[in-house]
Amino acid sequence: MLKLLFLSTPVGPLSSGIGGGVEFTLYNLAQEMLRRGHQVNVVAPENSALPNTSIIEISGQLQISAQSQERDILICLPPNSVLGNMWEYARKVQDQYDLIFNFAYDWLPFYLTPFFTACPVAHLVSMGSVSEAMDHIILQTVDQFPHLVTFYSQTQAETFGIKEAHCLGSAIDLPLYKYVNSPDDYLAWVGRIAPEKALEDAVAAAQITGIPLKIFGKLQDIAYWEQIKQDYPNAPFEYVGFFSTDELQQYLGKARALLMTPRWVEAFGNVMIEALACGVPVIAYRRGGPVEVLQDEKTGFLVEPDSVTGLVEAIQKINTIDRMACRSSAEQDYSLQALGDRTEQWFHHILLR
Ligand code: UDP
Repeated sequence: MLKLLFLSTPVGPLSSGIGGGVEFTLYNLAQEMLRRGHQVNVVAPENSALPNTSIIEISGQLQISAQSQERDILICLPPNSVLGNMWEYARKVQDQYDLIFNFAYDWLPFYLTPFFTACPVAHLVSMGSVSEAMDHIILQTVDQFPHLVTFYSQTQAETFGIKEAHCLGSAIDLPLYKYVNSPDDYLAWVGRIAPEKALEDAVAAAQITGIPLKIFGKLQDIAYWEQIKQDYPNAPFEYVGFFSTDELQQYLGKARALLMTPRWVEAFGNVMIEALACGVPVIAYRRGGPVEVLQDEKTGFLVEPDSVTGLVEAIQKINTIDRMACRSSAEQDYSLQALGDRTEQWFHHILLR
Protein backbone atom coordinates (compact mmCIF):
# COMPACT_ATOMS: atom_id res chain seq x y z
CA MET A 1 0.00 0.00 0.00
CA LEU A 2 1.43 3.36 -1.02
CA LYS A 3 0.66 6.64 0.71
CA LEU A 4 0.12 9.13 -2.10
CA LEU A 5 -0.36 12.88 -2.00
CA PHE A 6 -1.77 14.38 -5.21
CA LEU A 7 -1.32 18.12 -5.76
CA SER A 8 -3.90 19.59 -8.10
CA THR A 9 -3.69 22.54 -10.46
CA PRO A 10 -3.86 26.00 -8.80
CA VAL A 11 -5.85 27.57 -11.69
CA GLY A 12 -9.22 26.61 -10.21
CA PRO A 13 -11.02 24.38 -7.73
CA LEU A 14 -11.48 20.73 -8.70
CA SER A 15 -14.81 20.19 -10.50
CA SER A 16 -14.89 23.80 -11.73
CA GLY A 17 -13.68 22.70 -15.18
CA ILE A 18 -11.07 25.48 -15.30
CA GLY A 19 -8.33 22.88 -14.96
CA GLY A 20 -9.65 21.01 -18.02
CA GLY A 21 -8.45 17.46 -18.64
CA VAL A 22 -6.03 17.50 -15.74
CA GLU A 23 -8.96 17.55 -13.28
CA PHE A 24 -10.32 14.52 -15.07
CA THR A 25 -7.01 12.62 -14.99
CA LEU A 26 -6.45 13.42 -11.33
CA TYR A 27 -9.93 12.16 -10.43
CA ASN A 28 -9.60 8.98 -12.48
CA LEU A 29 -6.16 8.18 -11.09
CA ALA A 30 -7.26 8.86 -7.52
CA GLN A 31 -10.22 6.48 -7.91
CA GLU A 32 -8.09 3.75 -9.47
CA MET A 33 -5.32 4.04 -6.86
CA LEU A 34 -7.93 3.90 -4.05
CA ARG A 35 -9.52 0.83 -5.68
CA ARG A 36 -6.10 -0.83 -5.59
CA GLY A 37 -5.83 -0.26 -1.85
CA HIS A 38 -3.48 2.74 -1.85
CA GLN A 39 -4.07 5.79 0.33
CA VAL A 40 -4.72 8.95 -1.68
CA ASN A 41 -5.08 12.48 -0.34
CA VAL A 42 -5.64 15.37 -2.73
CA VAL A 43 -4.46 18.93 -2.11
CA ALA A 44 -6.50 21.46 -4.10
CA PRO A 45 -7.77 25.05 -4.01
CA GLU A 46 -10.68 25.95 -1.74
CA ASN A 47 -14.19 24.97 -2.90
CA SER A 48 -12.92 21.83 -4.63
CA ALA A 49 -15.22 18.83 -4.68
CA LEU A 50 -14.66 15.29 -5.92
CA PRO A 51 -16.88 12.31 -5.17
CA ASN A 52 -15.30 9.63 -2.90
CA THR A 53 -12.07 11.57 -2.50
CA SER A 54 -10.42 13.07 0.55
CA ILE A 55 -9.51 16.67 -0.32
CA ILE A 56 -7.33 19.02 1.68
CA GLU A 57 -8.60 22.45 0.65
CA ILE A 58 -6.09 25.29 0.59
CA SER A 59 -6.99 28.98 0.49
CA GLY A 60 -5.27 31.67 -1.51
CA GLN A 61 -5.37 33.43 -4.85
CA LEU A 62 -5.63 31.30 -7.97
CA GLN A 63 -2.96 31.11 -10.65
CA ILE A 64 -3.59 32.39 -14.21
CA SER A 65 -3.54 29.59 -16.84
CA ALA A 66 -0.14 29.43 -18.54
CA GLN A 67 -1.61 28.91 -22.03
CA SER A 68 -3.56 32.19 -21.96
CA GLN A 69 -0.35 34.26 -21.79
CA GLU A 70 2.54 35.22 -24.07
CA ARG A 71 5.46 32.84 -24.61
CA ASP A 72 7.97 35.22 -23.01
CA ILE A 73 5.86 35.83 -19.89
CA LEU A 74 7.79 35.95 -16.62
CA ILE A 75 6.79 33.65 -13.78
CA CYS A 76 4.17 35.45 -11.68
CA LEU A 77 2.57 34.58 -8.39
CA PRO A 78 -0.19 36.67 -6.81
CA PRO A 79 0.03 37.72 -3.17
CA ASN A 80 -1.12 34.89 -0.89
CA SER A 81 -0.72 32.46 -3.79
CA VAL A 82 -2.70 29.24 -3.53
CA LEU A 83 0.11 27.54 -5.45
CA GLY A 84 2.64 28.66 -2.85
CA ASN A 85 0.29 27.67 -0.01
CA MET A 86 -0.36 24.21 -1.48
CA TRP A 87 3.36 23.48 -1.73
CA GLU A 88 3.99 24.87 1.74
CA TYR A 89 1.43 22.35 2.98
CA ALA A 90 3.15 19.56 1.00
CA ARG A 91 6.52 20.51 2.51
CA LYS A 92 5.14 20.20 6.02
CA VAL A 93 3.56 16.77 5.53
CA GLN A 94 6.08 15.21 3.13
CA ASP A 95 7.35 12.68 5.69
CA GLN A 96 3.85 11.16 5.96
CA TYR A 97 3.85 10.04 2.30
CA ASP A 98 5.70 7.69 -0.04
CA LEU A 99 5.23 9.88 -3.08
CA ILE A 100 3.91 13.33 -4.03
CA PHE A 101 2.33 13.60 -7.48
CA ASN A 102 2.17 17.07 -9.04
CA PHE A 103 -0.56 17.73 -11.64
CA ALA A 104 0.11 21.48 -11.94
CA TYR A 105 1.66 22.98 -15.06
CA ASP A 106 3.48 25.60 -13.00
CA TRP A 107 7.07 26.60 -12.50
CA LEU A 108 7.21 26.34 -8.70
CA PRO A 109 6.57 22.58 -8.23
CA PHE A 110 9.16 21.67 -10.87
CA TYR A 111 11.66 24.02 -9.25
CA LEU A 112 10.97 22.50 -5.82
CA THR A 113 11.72 18.91 -6.93
CA PRO A 114 15.21 18.65 -5.34
CA PHE A 115 14.12 20.51 -2.19
CA PHE A 116 11.80 17.69 -1.11
CA THR A 117 14.05 15.27 0.71
CA ALA A 118 11.59 13.09 2.66
CA CYS A 119 9.70 11.82 -0.39
CA PRO A 120 10.01 12.12 -4.17
CA VAL A 121 7.91 14.56 -6.20
CA ALA A 122 6.68 13.12 -9.52
CA HIS A 123 5.19 15.36 -12.21
CA LEU A 124 2.60 14.98 -14.95
CA VAL A 125 3.28 17.59 -17.64
CA SER A 126 -0.26 18.26 -18.80
CA MET A 127 0.25 20.61 -21.77
CA GLY A 128 2.68 21.09 -24.61
CA SER A 129 5.20 23.92 -24.71
CA VAL A 130 3.46 27.27 -24.07
CA SER A 131 6.12 29.46 -22.46
CA GLU A 132 9.88 29.83 -22.37
CA ALA A 133 10.12 29.80 -18.58
CA MET A 134 8.09 26.58 -18.34
CA ASP A 135 10.11 24.95 -21.13
CA HIS A 136 13.27 25.76 -19.24
CA ILE A 137 12.20 24.37 -15.87
CA ILE A 138 10.58 21.26 -17.38
CA LEU A 139 13.70 20.46 -19.42
CA GLN A 140 15.92 21.10 -16.40
CA THR A 141 13.80 18.71 -14.31
CA VAL A 142 13.80 16.05 -17.04
CA ASP A 143 17.56 16.42 -17.32
CA GLN A 144 18.24 16.07 -13.59
CA PHE A 145 15.42 13.68 -12.64
CA PRO A 146 14.26 11.89 -15.81
CA HIS A 147 12.46 9.19 -13.79
CA LEU A 148 10.23 11.81 -12.09
CA VAL A 149 8.56 13.36 -15.15
CA THR A 150 5.78 11.90 -17.28
CA PHE A 151 3.76 13.28 -20.19
CA TYR A 152 0.37 12.50 -21.71
CA SER A 153 1.77 11.71 -25.16
CA GLN A 154 4.99 11.55 -27.14
CA THR A 155 3.85 14.26 -29.60
CA GLN A 156 3.29 16.54 -26.61
CA ALA A 157 6.80 15.78 -25.26
CA GLU A 158 8.24 16.63 -28.68
CA THR A 159 6.99 20.22 -28.34
CA PHE A 160 9.74 20.52 -25.68
CA GLY A 161 12.25 18.84 -27.99
CA ILE A 162 12.15 15.59 -25.97
CA LYS A 163 12.63 12.60 -28.29
CA GLU A 164 11.78 9.75 -25.92
CA ALA A 165 9.58 10.58 -22.98
CA HIS A 166 7.82 8.53 -20.34
CA CYS A 167 4.13 8.80 -21.26
CA LEU A 168 1.26 7.89 -19.00
CA GLY A 169 -1.52 8.50 -21.52
CA SER A 170 -5.01 8.85 -20.13
CA ALA A 171 -8.06 6.75 -19.36
CA ILE A 172 -11.74 6.78 -18.57
CA ASP A 173 -14.01 4.98 -16.18
CA LEU A 174 -15.69 2.97 -18.96
CA PRO A 175 -18.82 1.80 -17.10
CA LEU A 176 -19.85 5.47 -16.77
CA TYR A 177 -20.16 5.81 -20.57
CA LYS A 178 -23.12 4.20 -22.33
CA TYR A 179 -22.69 2.98 -25.89
CA VAL A 180 -25.17 4.58 -28.32
CA ASN A 181 -25.67 2.82 -31.63
CA SER A 182 -28.14 5.18 -33.31
CA PRO A 183 -27.24 8.85 -32.99
CA ASP A 184 -29.42 11.93 -33.39
CA ASP A 185 -28.68 14.42 -36.13
CA TYR A 186 -26.14 16.69 -34.48
CA LEU A 187 -22.41 17.15 -34.07
CA ALA A 188 -20.72 17.73 -30.73
CA TRP A 189 -17.83 19.93 -29.64
CA VAL A 190 -16.57 19.50 -26.09
CA GLY A 191 -13.92 21.47 -24.24
CA ARG A 192 -12.91 24.69 -22.58
CA ILE A 193 -14.15 27.57 -24.71
CA ALA A 194 -10.82 29.31 -25.22
CA PRO A 195 -8.81 30.41 -28.28
CA GLU A 196 -6.36 27.46 -28.24
CA LYS A 197 -9.32 25.14 -28.87
CA ALA A 198 -10.44 26.99 -32.05
CA LEU A 199 -14.15 26.37 -31.63
CA GLU A 200 -14.75 28.76 -34.56
CA ASP A 201 -13.54 26.08 -37.02
CA ALA A 202 -16.22 23.66 -35.81
CA VAL A 203 -18.85 26.40 -36.04
CA ALA A 204 -17.73 27.15 -39.62
CA ALA A 205 -18.05 23.45 -40.50
CA ALA A 206 -21.56 23.36 -39.00
CA GLN A 207 -22.50 26.38 -41.10
CA ILE A 208 -21.31 24.71 -44.33
CA THR A 209 -22.86 21.27 -43.66
CA GLY A 210 -26.04 22.63 -42.05
CA ILE A 211 -25.77 19.98 -39.32
CA PRO A 212 -26.40 21.50 -35.87
CA LEU A 213 -23.43 21.74 -33.52
CA LYS A 214 -23.96 21.32 -29.77
CA ILE A 215 -21.22 22.79 -27.60
CA PHE A 216 -20.37 21.53 -24.10
CA GLY A 217 -17.75 22.80 -21.69
CA LYS A 218 -16.44 25.52 -19.48
CA LEU A 219 -16.98 29.02 -20.86
CA GLN A 220 -13.47 30.15 -20.02
CA ASP A 221 -12.97 33.13 -22.34
CA ILE A 222 -16.23 35.04 -22.65
CA ALA A 223 -14.90 37.71 -25.06
CA TYR A 224 -13.74 34.91 -27.40
CA TRP A 225 -17.18 33.27 -27.27
CA GLU A 226 -18.97 36.57 -27.96
CA GLN A 227 -16.72 37.10 -30.99
CA ILE A 228 -17.68 33.68 -32.41
CA LYS A 229 -21.39 34.50 -32.00
CA GLN A 230 -20.83 37.79 -33.79
CA ASP A 231 -18.80 36.21 -36.62
CA TYR A 232 -21.27 33.38 -37.31
CA PRO A 233 -24.76 34.85 -36.78
CA ASN A 234 -26.43 32.26 -39.03
CA ALA A 235 -24.57 29.07 -38.16
CA PRO A 236 -26.60 26.31 -36.47
CA PHE A 237 -24.76 26.12 -33.12
CA GLU A 238 -25.85 26.14 -29.52
CA TYR A 239 -24.00 26.31 -26.20
CA VAL A 240 -25.61 23.66 -24.01
CA GLY A 241 -23.50 24.03 -20.82
CA PHE A 242 -20.83 22.51 -18.60
CA PHE A 243 -21.92 19.14 -17.25
CA SER A 244 -20.94 16.33 -14.93
CA THR A 245 -19.61 13.18 -16.62
CA ASP A 246 -22.96 11.43 -16.34
CA GLU A 247 -24.92 14.19 -18.07
CA LEU A 248 -22.16 14.91 -20.58
CA GLN A 249 -21.98 11.30 -21.77
CA GLN A 250 -25.75 11.25 -22.35
CA TYR A 251 -25.55 14.22 -24.72
CA LEU A 252 -22.27 13.17 -26.26
CA GLY A 253 -23.42 9.62 -26.99
CA LYS A 254 -26.20 10.87 -29.27
CA ALA A 255 -23.85 12.89 -31.45
CA ARG A 256 -22.99 11.79 -34.99
CA ALA A 257 -19.39 12.82 -34.42
CA LEU A 258 -17.19 14.81 -32.08
CA LEU A 259 -15.26 17.63 -33.74
CA MET A 260 -11.83 18.34 -32.23
CA THR A 261 -10.29 21.45 -33.65
CA PRO A 262 -7.43 22.56 -31.39
CA ARG A 263 -5.08 25.20 -32.76
CA TRP A 264 -2.35 24.09 -30.34
CA VAL A 265 -0.69 20.70 -29.93
CA GLU A 266 -3.30 19.06 -27.73
CA ALA A 267 -1.35 17.07 -25.11
CA PHE A 268 -3.92 14.29 -25.20
CA GLY A 269 -7.57 15.32 -25.57
CA ASN A 270 -9.59 13.52 -22.94
CA VAL A 271 -12.84 14.41 -24.66
CA MET A 272 -11.77 12.17 -27.54
CA ILE A 273 -11.70 8.96 -25.48
CA GLU A 274 -14.97 9.94 -23.79
CA ALA A 275 -16.59 10.20 -27.23
CA LEU A 276 -15.10 6.91 -28.42
CA ALA A 277 -16.41 5.18 -25.27
CA CYS A 278 -19.95 6.25 -26.25
CA GLY A 279 -19.41 4.94 -29.78
CA VAL A 280 -18.99 8.43 -31.23
CA PRO A 281 -16.44 8.80 -34.05
CA VAL A 282 -13.97 11.67 -33.71
CA ILE A 283 -12.96 14.10 -36.43
CA ALA A 284 -9.73 15.80 -35.37
CA TYR A 285 -6.86 17.76 -36.82
CA ARG A 286 -3.82 15.60 -37.53
CA ARG A 287 -1.75 17.14 -34.73
CA GLY A 288 -1.00 16.36 -31.07
CA GLY A 289 -2.64 13.63 -28.98
CA PRO A 290 -5.34 12.60 -31.51
CA VAL A 291 -2.62 11.34 -33.89
CA GLU A 292 -1.63 8.75 -31.27
CA VAL A 293 -5.17 7.78 -30.31
CA LEU A 294 -7.38 7.82 -33.41
CA GLN A 295 -7.28 5.19 -36.12
CA ASP A 296 -7.91 7.16 -39.30
CA GLU A 297 -11.02 5.90 -41.16
CA LYS A 298 -11.74 3.36 -38.39
CA THR A 299 -12.53 5.35 -35.24
CA GLY A 300 -12.86 8.70 -37.01
CA PHE A 301 -10.89 10.91 -39.34
CA LEU A 302 -7.61 12.78 -38.97
CA VAL A 303 -7.79 15.83 -41.21
CA GLU A 304 -5.34 18.49 -42.30
CA PRO A 305 -4.73 20.88 -39.38
CA ASP A 306 -6.76 24.12 -39.49
CA SER A 307 -8.69 23.01 -42.59
CA VAL A 308 -12.43 23.61 -42.30
CA THR A 309 -12.82 21.93 -45.72
CA GLY A 310 -11.12 18.87 -44.24
CA LEU A 311 -13.64 18.84 -41.39
CA VAL A 312 -16.56 19.18 -43.81
CA GLU A 313 -15.35 16.31 -46.04
CA ALA A 314 -14.94 14.07 -43.00
CA ILE A 315 -18.43 14.95 -41.71
CA GLN A 316 -19.86 13.96 -45.10
CA LYS A 317 -18.46 10.43 -44.83
CA ILE A 318 -19.07 9.89 -41.12
CA ASN A 319 -21.55 7.07 -41.76
CA THR A 320 -18.69 4.87 -43.01
CA ILE A 321 -17.43 4.59 -39.43
CA ASP A 322 -18.63 1.64 -37.34
CA ARG A 323 -19.60 3.07 -33.94
CA MET A 324 -18.88 -0.27 -32.25
CA ALA A 325 -15.25 -0.04 -33.43
CA CYS A 326 -15.01 3.29 -31.56
CA ARG A 327 -16.29 1.76 -28.33
CA SER A 328 -13.92 -1.23 -28.70
CA SER A 329 -10.93 1.05 -29.16
CA ALA A 330 -11.75 2.84 -25.88
CA GLU A 331 -12.20 -0.49 -24.11
CA GLN A 332 -8.93 -1.92 -25.37
CA ASP A 333 -6.60 0.97 -24.76
CA TYR A 334 -8.11 3.46 -22.35
CA SER A 335 -9.50 1.57 -19.36
CA LEU A 336 -8.71 2.73 -15.82
CA GLN A 337 -7.05 -0.63 -15.19
CA ALA A 338 -4.57 -0.01 -18.00
CA LEU A 339 -3.76 3.47 -16.69
CA GLY A 340 -3.51 2.13 -13.13
CA ASP A 341 -1.00 -0.55 -14.23
CA ARG A 342 1.16 2.01 -16.02
CA THR A 343 1.04 4.39 -13.06
CA GLU A 344 1.87 1.74 -10.45
CA GLN A 345 4.78 0.55 -12.57
CA TRP A 346 6.09 4.10 -12.81
CA PHE A 347 5.66 4.75 -9.07
CA HIS A 348 7.54 1.53 -8.24
CA HIS A 349 10.30 2.47 -10.65
CA ILE A 350 10.63 5.81 -8.81
CA LEU A 351 10.54 4.28 -5.34
CA LEU A 352 13.07 1.52 -6.09
CA ARG A 353 15.76 4.03 -6.95
N1 UDP B 1 -15.77 18.40 -19.45
C1 UDP B 1 -16.74 18.25 -18.47
N2 UDP B 1 -17.99 18.75 -18.71
C2 UDP B 1 -18.33 19.35 -19.88
C3 UDP B 1 -17.33 19.49 -20.88
C4 UDP B 1 -16.06 19.00 -20.62
O1 UDP B 1 -16.48 17.71 -17.41
O2 UDP B 1 -19.48 19.76 -20.04
C5 UDP B 1 -14.41 17.85 -19.20
C6 UDP B 1 -14.15 16.64 -20.07
O3 UDP B 1 -14.70 15.51 -19.48
C7 UDP B 1 -12.62 16.59 -20.12
C8 UDP B 1 -12.20 18.02 -19.88
O4 UDP B 1 -13.39 18.76 -19.58
O5 UDP B 1 -12.13 15.75 -19.12
C9 UDP B 1 -11.47 18.62 -21.06
O6 UDP B 1 -10.24 17.97 -21.17
P1 UDP B 1 -9.33 17.86 -22.46
O7 UDP B 1 -8.20 16.94 -22.14
O8 UDP B 1 -10.14 17.47 -23.65
O9 UDP B 1 -8.79 19.35 -22.72
P2 UDP B 1 -8.05 20.45 -21.80
O10 UDP B 1 -9.14 21.28 -21.20
O11 UDP B 1 -7.25 19.71 -20.76
O12 UDP B 1 -7.19 21.25 -22.72
